[in-house]
Amino acid sequence: MNDQQQKYHREFNRTYFAPGTANRERRRELDRATHARNRQGILDMYGRRCSKCGFDSDVRALQLDHKGSKPWETHRYARSGGTLYVVILNGTLPKELFQILCANCNTIKRLSTLEERSTPKNTIL
Ligand SMILES: [Zn+2]
Repeated sequence: MNDQQQKYHREFNRTYFAPGTANRERRRELDRATHARNRQGILDMYGRRCSKCGFDSDVRALQLDHKGSKPWETHRYARSGGTLYVVILNGTLPKELFQILCANCNTIKRLSTLEERSTPKNTIL
């Protein structure tokens, strides 16, 4: 796309999807539906349970976790959770780099990783 085309598309999107318009609302509904569908796809792919403790009673508490705690390594493929779902579902990133954890296990893992990296004065109690 050349500069002129890019300028045209930017202006089109700015006006066509302007705040308060029906197009904007429709776009948001479609984006939400796509995100929900991709999340369901991810949950189906990994199984709808925490891979550490087995929690499975409410999928809202399940989170996609980067195994090995190096999320920045995948950031060149996906800069948001939504695009991360897509690149896992389409096979761009191998499924084995991630796991499903419940919110408790994910928080405990995150805090443990921080504790390992922090100096004693920064330790989280
Ligand atoms: Zn868990």
